[in-house]
Amino acid sequence: MIPLDVFGSESVAADLLQQVRWRDGVPCPRCRSDRTVRNGSYGEAQRYLCKNCDRTFNDKTGTIFAHSKIALRRWLFSIYAFLRFNTSLRQLQCEIEVTHKTIHRRIERFASALDAPSLDLVGPVEIDEVYVSAGEKGRERDQPSRSRGLATRGRGSYDGDKPPVFILADRGTGQRYVILAKAADESTIRFLLADRKQESIRVYTDGFRAYEPIEDDDAFDREYVVHGDGEYVDDEVHVNTCESHASLARRWLSPHRGVSKDKLTPYLGAFQLRRQVYRKPRKEALKTILETAL
Ligand SMILES: [Zn+2]
Repeated sequence: MIPLDVFGSESVAADLLQQVRWRDGVPCPRCRSDRTVRNGSYGEAQRYLCKNCDRTFNDKTGTIFAHSKIALRRWLFSIYAFLRFNTSLRQLQCEIEVTHKTIHRRIERFASALDAPSLDLVGPVEIDEVYVSAGEKGRERDQPSRSRGLATRGRGSYDGDKPPVFILADRGTGQRYVILAKAADESTIRFLLADRKQESIRVYTDGFRAYEPIEDDDAFDREYVVHGDGEYVDDEVHVNTCESHASLARRWLSPHRGVSKDKLTPYLGAFQLRRQVYRKPRKEALKTILETAL
């Protein structure tokens, strides 16, 4: 089921890191020179000497794995379990026997290293928003919960404890995007739809008012369903893809209850990567995960 050889042996883990990290050569992390040579080892990692700046570095230098006393194979296992099996950090903390702080730091560093999704919309595009409970938890523990004030269903805000998260489903490419926003308003919507292949694009939404202004814009051909009127699907006019993707995103976040909103973007980046490697075989999935984070 899982690439046990990598997680069972430090040298196999080190080989994999080396293979992925230097897939395009071994430039010096400090001066970018290609004049580098192998120069002994650093634990299981290969060490190198840069003939240009005369400094040494190793396979981990400058990566998310640098400066950790915990074995690389344990970190690879953690990242793999986190992405593939949606394992909570609390569980991982027990599995690899580290402190709460150690696992949070390293996994969040990994997630932060993932590139933000770049939108290149072809269309038609479904767009919808959900509101995720993500407060200050984990950051300022003593702050009273404000969730009661927002108990009413519906729209939340970033400044409150329910920041809006936009879901875009590009039917042209099959891509889905999950993006945290400061507000669910017109300018955010325009910004999200700005990167597109064509001047004009077809957009499917629900009846939320913030989508109304784009209707007067020639760049958008908006069609919408009004959920309140019991209208959910009108032939191809619907946001069902967004809704099912939103429920996957909620399920992804659920073992990580207490993710603070300033950490939400990295967690959503990890969700994006999870979907990207979903159907890949184990070793290939792990390689792609590493390539994305290194
Ligand atoms: Zn150098």
